[in-house]
Amino acid sequence: MAKKKVKIGFFSLTCCEGCGFAVLDLEEKLLKAFEQIEIVESRVLMEKPSPKASKLDIAFIEGSVISNHDLDKLQEVRKKTDFLVALGACATIVGINGIRNVLPGGIRERLKEKAIKPMREKAFPLSAFVKVDYLLQGCSINEEEFLDFLNKFLHGVKPVLEEVPVCFECKLKENGCLLLKGIACLGPVTYAGCDALCPSNNAQCIGCRGFTKDGNFSSLDSLFKDFGLSKKERFNLFTYFNPLPEKLKDLEGK
Ligand code: SF4
Ligand code: SF4
Ligand code: SF4
Repeated sequence: MAKKKVKIGFFSLTCCEGCGFAVLDLEEKLLKAFEQIEIVESRVLMEKPSPKASKLDIAFIEGSVISNHDLDKLQEVRKKTDFLVALGACATIVGINGIRNVLPGGIRERLKEKAIKPMREKAFPLSAFVKVDYLLQGCSINEEEFLDFLNKFLHGVKPVLEEVPVCFECKLKENGCLLLKGIACLGPVTYAGCDALCPSNNAQCIGCRGFTKDGNFSSLDSLFKDFGLSKKERFNLFTYFNPLPEKLKDLEGK
């Protein structure tokens, strides 16, 4: 008897849908996996809109919760899904949607008034409301990492998150360190997995894979201060993708 296929759904909350398109970019590689999976819900990957599935083995959700509509959708998917994966920075750490969380109150209110759908006071990652079983980090996600996760899942191997900072991969690549040139790089406090993409191209890491649990934020912030970055510039850098770390609360308020 043919093995039962793993039922998968892709869902988008508020975001640019770039992570969904990154999956689409896998083309042939994704087609190979089709022997073992069945995509039963996806706006991007299916030709015609699909009827809602009643049960899913895996749900991939991109985007942040910004509206009550997002929240209803997230809770509905969680109820019918065995394994829920947050896809990309908007879903895992709030990502660029978090910019509205740090806007002055007056501007946030004006945005809310002009919004085409009713907005909540702030934007949140999925884990603020539901249990998330796995995180695929990045803005956008790393396609190979997505495939690796899927292959492991299909072979019954429990995927484990790498808990080392970007600097680890940067050193493996023998890159010169940008900090030595006075460039504010968030690699020491950001989770690896992107093969140190930005520093390998001479650009600072801006934290899109999320901050590590035990990062030394205070000493990195003092280093950036020594580089001549103002309080506002440091605040903007640390909150580009992530909520402001507790230890840097004194950067608030300009
Ligand atoms: S993480 Fe980046 S690429 Fe993915 S949906 Fe959000 S903004 Fe788009
Ligand atoms: S360039 Fe950035 S990521 Fe690379 S070692 Fe230096 S601080 Fe770490
Ligand atoms: S180096 Fe940093 S900002 Fe660049 S892709 Fe990696 S985690 Fe994201």
